[in-house]
Amino acid sequence: MTVVDAAALTAWVREFARLVHEQRDTLTQLDSAIGDADHGANLDRGMTAAVAALEATPPDDPAAALKTVATTLIKTVGGASGPLYGTFFLRAAGALDVGTDPTHHGRALAAALRAGYDGVIARGKAERGDKTMLDALGPACDAFDEALAAGKALDEALGAAAEAAAQGRDATEPLIARKGRASYLGERSAGHLDPGAASAALLVEAAATALAGRG
Ligand code: ADP
Ligand code: MG
Repeated sequence: MTVVDAAALTAWVREFARLVHEQRDTLTQLDSAIGDADHGANLDRGMTAAVAALEATPPDDPAAALKTVATTLIKTVGGASGPLYGTFFLRAAGALDVGTDPTHHGRALAAALRAGYDGVIARGKAERGDKTMLDALGPACDAFDEALAAGKALDEALGAAAEAAAQGRDATEPLIARKGRASYLGERSAGHLDPGAASAALLVEAAATALAGRG
C-alpha cells in the first residue's frame, strides 16, 4: 500500500537536504570546473532552510510540504538553480493530487514530478542535451512512468528512476553546455559533469531512499 502523505514527502526533502549537505563540496567542485563554484553552497543553504521551514510549520498535506520547499528555495538561493528548483517544487505541488485511494499514490507522485520537470523547461527554456539538471530529471521521469505503467511497485519504480537519473547525470560529461553559466565556456564545458544534473540525481536518489517500503 503506497501512502504519499505529508510525512513521506517531508522525509524525502530531509533526505535530499542530507545528501546535498554531505556532497556539498563535490557539487561545488563540479561547479568550479564549468561555473562559479557555488552550486553546493547554494543548494545546501536552500535545503537547510527548507528543512527548518518544514520543522517550524509542519505541513498539513503533501502538496503543502512541496510548496514550502519551493518558496524557501526561491527566497534563499541566488543563482540559476534556486528559481529552477523552486519552480520544480512549486509545479510539483500544484500538480500533486493524491486523492483518497493509496493505490493511486505512485502515479500521482509520478505526475507531480513530471509537472515539476515541465516547469523547469518552461522557466529555463532549456531542453534535454543542453547539459543541465533536465538531463537527470527527464530520464528519471520517463523511467518512473514506464515502471509504473509496467505494473511495478513504488519501490522498484523509484529505484529505476534513481538509476536513470544517475545515468543521465553521467551522460552530461561529454556534452557542451548550451544553457546557464557553463554555456559561456562553449566547447571547454565538455569533459565535466554538470553540477545541476548531479544534484538532481541526488533528489531522485533521496526519493527512492525516503519512500522505500511504501509499496
Ligand atoms: P549559477 O549557474 O547561477 O551559479 P548554480 O551554480 O546554483 O547557479 O546552478 C547551476 C546549475 O543550474 C547548472 O549546473 C544547470 O544544471 C542548472 N541550470 C542552469 N541554467 C539552466 C536552465 N536554463 N535550465 C535548466 N537548468 C539550468
Ligand atoms: Mg554556480
